[in-house]
Amino acid sequence: MVGHVNFEDLDFEYGYSCMADRLHYYSKEENDFRMEVRKWCKDNIEPVATKIDRERNKVLAVETLKKMKPYLNIVIPEEVGGLGKGVLYRTIFGEELTAFSYAIATIFGASSCLFAAPIIEYGSSEQKKKYLSGIADGTKIGAIGITEPTGGSDAIGGMNLRATKDGDHYVLNGEKCFITNGSVADYITLYAVTNDQVKRRQGISAFIFETDTPGFEVVKDYTYMGRRGMPNSHLRFKNCKVPVENLLYKENEGIEVLLFGLDGERTFTASQYLGLARSAFEVAYKYAHRREQFRKTIYSFEGISFKLSEMFMDLELNRIAIAQIAKMLDEGHYCRASVAAIKARVSDMAVEITKNAVQVIGGLGYSEEYPVERFYRDAKIGQISAGSAEIMRYLISREMIRMWGK
Ligand SMILES: Cc1cc2nc3c(=O)[nH]c(=O)nc-3n(C[C@H](O)[C@H](O)[C@H](O)COP(=O)(O)OP(=O)(O)OC[C@H]3O[C@@H](n4cnc5c(N)ncnc54)[C@H](O)[C@@H]3O)c2cc1C
Repeated sequence: MVGHVNFEDLDFEYGYSCMADRLHYYSKEENDFRMEVRKWCKDNIEPVATKIDRERNKVLAVETLKKMKPYLNIVIPEEVGGLGKGVLYRTIFGEELTAFSYAIATIFGASSCLFAAPIIEYGSSEQKKKYLSGIADGTKIGAIGITEPTGGSDAIGGMNLRATKDGDHYVLNGEKCFITNGSVADYITLYAVTNDQVKRRQGISAFIFETDTPGFEVVKDYTYMGRRGMPNSHLRFKNCKVPVENLLYKENEGIEVLLFGLDGERTFTASQYLGLARSAFEVAYKYAHRREQFRKTIYSFEGISFKLSEMFMDLELNRIAIAQIAKMLDEGHYCRASVAAIKARVSDMAVEITKNAVQVIGGLGYSEEYPVERFYRDAKIGQISAGSAEIMRYLISREMIRMWGK
């Protein structure tokens, strides 16, 4: 009679590939990149992932980000030392990295994607040179600051951080909350109100903010149920002077900058949920083939194997959809409803798959002997941040009217 199976004996590879790889849905170059990243993560992320979670170890998490030098420059343009890759590469990277650590993947995403993307698209050549080269070589960390205590889902309507022009600089006063990397960032792409006499959408501007500016304060770091080790902060700005050359794009046209980044961000986050769910599936699948009850492996019971089949179905189809949407964005197509659909679907999927992975493994799944309890805790945030489950459905309901009328 076989007893409980130790996690160490499972031969967990963090790498079950679905059909999308085997059918060459991705090019050889993209698949080679995926395998290279997977190996790199196995060597560099796996040894620290559990420790970062258990100890909520932000220092180790940030040190690990800095070690990611070979990949920090994926989206940074070639002229400032990057690889200049698009959304599809980002999703491959996001899936692989998150399969090992969602906390590290989020620190990476906030710095190398969310901070950098608006500057890549709208920054002047001086801004790109000054602020992106440090992100690409790991000497600097970036963050994105949209959310405020008064503006979460209604981030634009509820925005109250004020930027008042005064000669050759703007003076910032207000707060931002829930900012990933907030307490460790060197730079933040920040959105503030520059004209409160008009509708918010016409009165917001984007800035590149340096966190050594006098008057900037980290009020606190939040403690979360998942993605432990990821710094995430409440920030205060008191008479912070920002030079006019740090205005990103045009005054009062920050809404364009803000909306530009969101489709790429949401496709990247969908790939993260996929990577997380993939790992949970792999652990559950292997465990089900090794654990015996009633003198059979638990996989031989349909109650268990059908759960795993359902997981496979969701992983397989969503993976293809993510790749397709990423390709559409790379080709410059407008596909906001599809992005919202995949973001919402895959975040729901990740919660379901990680929950069912705990169920398949049973008592050990609920324990810290196995990583699936971490995956389950981590998964929930997908339905809240970067646009909640409800806001994605709201956005789709508006897009349907835009596409087809009433
Ligand atoms: C771990 C974490 C990391 C984050 N990282 C960042 C970051 O780096 N930068 C940044 O700027 N922000 C960040 N955020 C903020 C995140 O984007 C917001 O938390 C999110 O947009 C939701 O805002 P809220 O938490 O204020 O919830 P609320 O907007 O108060 O919503 C509460 C609930 O009401 C629902 N709701 C609201 N409006 C509607 C509606 N019209 N119809 C139906 N339901 C509705 C929501 O879906 C939700 O369920 C982060 C948040 C977390 C928790």
